[in-house]
Amino acid sequence: MKIYRSEDCDADLVKAKRVAIVGYGSQGHAHALNLRDSGVRDVAVALREGSASRARAEAAGFPVMGNAEAAEWADLVMVLAPDEEQAAIWSHDLAGHMRPGSALAFAHGLNVHFGLIRPPAYLDVILIAPKGPGRALRRDYLRGSGLPCLVAVHQESAAGGNGHALALALSYADALGGGRVGILETSFREECETDLFGEQAVLCGGIPLLIRAGFETLVEAGYAPEMAYFECLHEVKLIVDLLHDGGLAAMGLAISNTAEFGGLVTGPRLVTEETRAEMRRVLADIQAGRFVKRFVLENQAGAPELAASRAAARAHPIEVVGETLRAMMRGTSVVDKPPPQS
Ligand code: NAD
Ligand code: MG
Repeated sequence: MKIYRSEDCDADLVKAKRVAIVGYGSQGHAHALNLRDSGVRDVAVALREGSASRARAEAAGFPVMGNAEAAEWADLVMVLAPDEEQAAIWSHDLAGHMRPGSALAFAHGLNVHFGLIRPPAYLDVILIAPKGPGRALRRDYLRGSGLPCLVAVHQESAAGGNGHALALALSYADALGGGRVGILETSFREECETDLFGEQAVLCGGIPLLIRAGFETLVEAGYAPEMAYFECLHEVKLIVDLLHDGGLAAMGLAISNTAEFGGLVTGPRLVTEETRAEMRRVLADIQAGRFVKRFVLENQAGAPELAASRAAARAHPIEVVGETLRAMMRGTSVVDKPPPQS
């Protein structure tokens, strides 16, 4: 993979643009603030009528516009509304309002790659995807570092020289702080399909279900839920920190020989050839657009499966015991716990 750093990027390209950030959530606030602190003078935030994010964007000193107004004003529109809202935002508010030669940007390739948004040829369509949540993007930037960023070009308009869309994406990624650590060039397809696969097979599908099944197995066998919570959920962080800092081999060295040998004996009993075959089918569902089709239908129906799964997750015994133990570790009690994060 091609990896770029600040010295490979032209910092002036994005500074010369009027940049509209659509949405002021996790990614939106960090993009807007980092761009401004990197010297991009014209940064505006675009929100729908009555948005709860409006007060925060204004308090941070950004002009706030409607989406269509921002699309007319901007040279570069970065779409950072939720993925399931983007196709409607595009067709109602942005399409037809953006000037030829301007750039439409995303932090996730899903809508463009699966054809839910089909931008006209007169726009540059680029991807700038920081590898982490907005809070980390902002925090690391303020520390003088940054998050690695992915960049990609879906299409380049005829206006401007060959390669101008990639150069603009690199300039934007550098202004986010990505050039301080590394900017990796990929494609919309690769970013989108690997991102969906990783979150489904490993991060948000695999790991949480493995935790829950381990917890349930111990509790059903008569062990204390507190013990099961510590062993199957709490200690995940210790392992993940080791993995994150040093990779699989370093994790193996840091844990006890007992734990290492136990993992060696039992891992292949859980992740079997059948698990791998299912992973390949999961990937095939993603590649063929079957997953995204299901996600679109779920949202059209008002997200009933998500609502039911969230309710069930909250009621699960692992949450009940976890709430008490987390309060204990914070030195508070469940009664005076802080309000839930919005
Ligand atoms: P978010 O839910 O935190 O924020 C969404 C924002 O969009 C909110 O401010 C909301 O008010 C606003 N919004 C909703 N509807 C709108 C509309 N019609 N018009 C204008 N604004 C509207 O979302 P997020 O997590 O920041 O995700 C944004 C994009 O970034 C997605 O494409 C996501 O895949 C991508 N991304 C997210 C992360 C992450 O860790 N959160 C990381 C990389 C990429
Ligand atoms: Mg991801």
